[in-house]
Amino acid sequence: MSQLKVAIVGGGIGGLVLALALRARRIDFELYEQAQELREIGAAVALSANGTRELRRLGLSQQVEGVSVIPSALVIRRWDTGEIIAEHPIGREGVYEATFGAPYYGVHRVALMQALADRVAAEGLHLGRPCIGVDESRAGAEVHFADGGSAPADVIVGADGAHSVIRPHVVGDIRGRFSGTVGYRGLVAARDLPALPDPAPLQFWAGPGRHLLHYPINGGRTINFLAVVRVPTWTQQSWMEECAVSDVVGAFAGWHPAVTEMVGSTDVGARWALHDLEPLTRWHTERAVLIGDAAHAMVPHQGQGANQTIEDAIVLADCLCDARNKRGLAAALRRYEQCRRKRTVAVQWWSRRTADLMHLPDGPEIAARDALFADLYSQLTWIHSHDAHASTVSSAPRSTRTQAALTRSQ
Ligand SMILES: Cc1cc2nc3c(=O)[nH]c(=O)nc-3n(C[C@H](O)[C@H](O)[C@H](O)COP(=O)(O)OP(=O)(O)OC[C@H]3O[C@@H](n4cnc5c(N)ncnc54)[C@H](O)[C@@H]3O)c2cc1C
Repeated sequence: MSQLKVAIVGGGIGGLVLALALRARRIDFELYEQAQELREIGAAVALSANGTRELRRLGLSQQVEGVSVIPSALVIRRWDTGEIIAEHPIGREGVYEATFGAPYYGVHRVALMQALADRVAAEGLHLGRPCIGVDESRAGAEVHFADGGSAPADVIVGADGAHSVIRPHVVGDIRGRFSGTVGYRGLVAARDLPALPDPAPLQFWAGPGRHLLHYPINGGRTINFLAVVRVPTWTQQSWMEECAVSDVVGAFAGWHPAVTEMVGSTDVGARWALHDLEPLTRWHTERAVLIGDAAHAMVPHQGQGANQTIEDAIVLADCLCDARNKRGLAAALRRYEQCRRKRTVAVQWWSRRTADLMHLPDGPEIAARDALFADLYSQLTWIHSHDAHASTVSSAPRSTRTQAALTRSQ
């Protein structure tokens, strides 16, 4: 058993995966979540091999696979004619898993959270405890709660999302930057989409200043979609604004009937301003550290926010496992940031770039863009084939024991 006591603030995907990864490495944790129950905002999430590989290692294959759908392929179509620009198999003939070493899943967020929460169980989990700030000294750290209470820890992990209350303590008051795009999210019954050529793939429709992404969940009976529209500014205080279905239908006027049918067939009630974070200058202090959206919120156009968060959780757990006690803590947090920063900055950049490529106007640049899409799997290899645990183990000082601790616990 490690001598470290870890306080995790936030019970989203990052906080829960970290809790499971720490338990697998026999490190004590307490997880504090502001909500009275564990839940996720939004409809579905796509998990790629770099994320599912780690969920498998945590022994979650059955639970996650049981509530997921593997899309047949990744297809990119033109906005008006529906002509296929690029098609790459995913589930079909197992090509994706053979290429990247683990499966690709579309999963309802509620089902994913339930699968994670069931495994974390009640031990070490504190719901309804909003954190309002933290303190640290050379001797230790403390989490402070809205109810006036506080809790001691050796290290505090800010897994509290894009509006993190831990981030100002680590790096100052950094706000999200607006990406110039808004998103409309919805769920539609597949049977209500007669114009859709094929509901089984994960499919992009790319056109000037907009795109639509959709994939099947819920045994293929439901289609989850995210419609993205470029807008000049976002002036609201909140990142979310109520809207009518006619707003999104109007934004896609003239597009292929499968697109207008999908965005018009659901009760879209809001549009979300898509933000990301400027790369932070630091991710940790002596005793506090950030993971997930708190460290590197990104726009969702590569479907990588949750997957990078899972990677963070695994790498941090490995680094803390190697530290074993308070003396090794500072080096462990430094190593975690070194392992994660460059990679997540690159994924943030690619996520923004993807929307730029999707949104090109018809014209001379389209041919080069389409050639890039046709070669997509080689472009994505560095993201999807990454093995976060193996890369941390291989970067470990020789005297440490990540691998041994993990093997013992399985
Ligand atoms: C439209 C859209 C689509 C997306 N699609 C994908 C996708 O397909 N694939 C993918 O990989 N990613 C996707 N993402 C990104 C992904 O959802 C996030 O990156 C991921 O959920 C981040 O996880 P997290 O644990 O860091 O933060 P969060 O999920 O935000 O969790 C933070 C938790 O902390 C809690 N909390 C916050 N403040 C406090 C406090 N003060 N005290 C205690 N608890 C607190 C919150 O209640 C919450 O439970 C998408 C994002 C968007 C917006």
